[in-house]
Amino acid sequence: MIPRARLWAAALLSALALALWAQVPPVDRLATRKPDLVALKAVDSTIRVDLRYASKDNFMGRAMYPAGAEALLNREAALALSRANAALKPKGYVLLVWDAYRPWSVTRAFWEATPPDKRQFVADPAKGSVHNRGCAVDVTLFDLHSGAEVEMPSGFDEMTERAYPHYSGGTPSARRNRDLLRATMEAQGFSVYPTEWWHFDYKGWNRYPVMDIPFSPEAHPAPGRLPVATPPPQPSPAP
Ligand SMILES: [Zn+2]
Repeated sequence: MIPRARLWAAALLSALALALWAQVPPVDRLATRKPDLVALKAVDSTIRVDLRYASKDNFMGRAMYPAGAEALLNREAALALSRANAALKPKGYVLLVWDAYRPWSVTRAFWEATPPDKRQFVADPAKGSVHNRGCAVDVTLFDLHSGAEVEMPSGFDEMTERAYPHYSGGTPSARRNRDLLRATMEAQGFSVYPTEWWHFDYKGWNRYPVMDIPFSPEAHPAPGRLPVATPPPQPSPAP
């Protein structure tokens, strides 16, 4: 028979481990590539950037990134995004980026603030988001002639079926814009997320680690600041 005190101690330790786990980014043993975050503006200054989480204009209603935060991506993804942007220019558009690299602690804050029935729209911090790996981008089209964002079937971070890339409602022009964005991104190695027309993962994202480094002016993480934790199961893509 196990003494009751020992059972209590085991339960307490389990609860403590769980609490600690929730505070630490997951580590993926298969993610062996060294992060190489670069500022998008240094790769392609014609890509427009409006980091919505650096302002109050997002579903959280408050700034989640520090003032002056820049759009960062791993170099490969940034170069692919630049190629997509170049392909759009003859058609009268450029890309407008709403989010790129996102620290893991921000992903955790999104999860905690989202009701359980809406959590298909946010990443589980136990797995991390592809944004945390510097390989996902939230992006729309910007019309060079009108000087404004194009019409899309839903707004950014709208948690409804209108956000689904296969949503068949809305206006024909909104669906055309969405499909042009998707085709252009897919041609450069990105894939769209099943519940968000604006979210794209770059191929090979699972080779890069989940990161919780802050935004830095140099846009380069110091290797010593990468998180260390017990490895979880292989994560699946999440927004
Ligand atoms: Zn996203």
